[in-house]
Amino acid sequence: MSPNNPIREGHAMRDPLTTMTPPVHLALPPDPPEPDEGCDVCAALVEQCAAAEAKGDFSKVTDCRVELRHHPHRRASDRKST
Ligand SMILES: [Zn+2]
Repeated sequence: MSPNNPIREGHAMRDPLTTMTPPVHLALPPDPPEPDEGCDVCAALVEQCAAAEAKGDFSKVTDCRVELRHHPHRRASDRKST
């Protein structure tokens, strides 16, 4: 008889220390915009967004996401649903 609970294994697979994705909060906008690959501005905004989210500064998170969404790129038509 193993004392291990099988549910614990599934939980261990989702160790928050090994994932870059922060937990979802109800206060956040529903769909975070996807940064353009190779765009330094978008990458910086994503980092700011993650940092603000880690601190619980949701207004800042929303601000960063709005900036991300409105950041102009040449490949506007390339944004298709994945
Ligand atoms: Zn950008």
